[in-house]
Amino acid sequence: MLAMKIGDLFRRGEPVFSFEFSPPKTDKGFESLFRTIAELKRLDPSFVSVTWGAGGSTRRKTVELVSRIQREAGLTAMAHLTCVGSTREEIAGILDRLREEGIVNVLPLRGDPPKDQPDFRPVPGGFRFANELIEFIHAGPWDFCTPAACYPETHTDAASPEADLKSLVRKVRAGAQFLITQLFFDNADYLAFVERARGADIGVPIVPGIMPITSTVNVPRIAKMCGSRVPAELQGAVDAAAGDAARVDAVGVEWATLQCRELLERGAPGIHFYTLNRSPATRRIYQNLFGA
Ligand code: FAD
Repeated sequence: MLAMKIGDLFRRGEPVFSFEFSPPKTDKGFESLFRTIAELKRLDPSFVSVTWGAGGSTRRKTVELVSRIQREAGLTAMAHLTCVGSTREEIAGILDRLREEGIVNVLPLRGDPPKDQPDFRPVPGGFRFANELIEFIHAGPWDFCTPAACYPETHTDAASPEADLKSLVRKVRAGAQFLITQLFFDNADYLAFVERARGADIGVPIVPGIMPITSTVNVPRIAKMCGSRVPAELQGAVDAAAGDAARVDAVGVEWATLQCRELLERGAPGIHFYTLNRSPATRRIYQNLFGA
């Protein structure tokens, strides 16, 4: 299939919906993920994306998975790519392979440092920040569409919201054609952030990232890691449902549905769903929003 550059999709003036997956660790995990992808394909997403892991084997799996999704499922697929642990030469090699596989969209990120080395340290000959990676991609022989990550509640390492916004301006100047936000649970944070970004002359589409709470342990842990605040009202509803998995799910889906509905009504250019490789919650949100 001929993949679309995602940046072009925003010009159609219709919301751009996307689903994020991560490379599973086992062959069985791959089989199950492809069942999830088949179920979510029925929702006709604009694109899907595949995260970049910290370890060597998961990294190879990103290239394999993103290529297979595009080739076998016929969906436009975007590869995430981080600066962690790779030299310029290694990154260039990965970009060559992605191009050979027909991938035309790459999300360049700094990446999170390995757990045993909490302060991010670039490898010798590597990149320190995502804007350097974006610049490298656009200075090279490739022709990728590159978005970037952004943080409505401010990145956890940033000295201040103002410093974080300056970093974001650097990424957009380097060639980020649209932005995908870190997950958040309070739309006020996204709306205020978009206003601040527009005030800093950032004109590119800013797609909200949504992750419904589907467990009392897993998602709150991820949210904490991402620096995403769970509002007291949502936390109260989740706590009241604790011990009843179906009720927790219902609370998470209901909250995410309300978030998506309001975001689209208020002009968000699409929604990026953090799926955790599962389909039911995303399908129910779609059902609530569109009756699909
Ligand atoms: P950067 O933009 O480089 O920012 C990192 C920090 O440095 C920020 O605090 C920023 O303010 C600061 N900074 C940036 N530039 C400068 C500068 N020039 N001088 C001083 N300070 C600066 N992680 C993965 O490992 N794999 C994934 O696949 C993945 N996918 C993601 C997808 C999305 C949509 C999002 C929102 C995040 C994802 N992450 C992923 C997490 C991300 O890698 C981490 O949040 C990481 O810590 C920051 O990445 P970044 O690209 O935003 O970094």
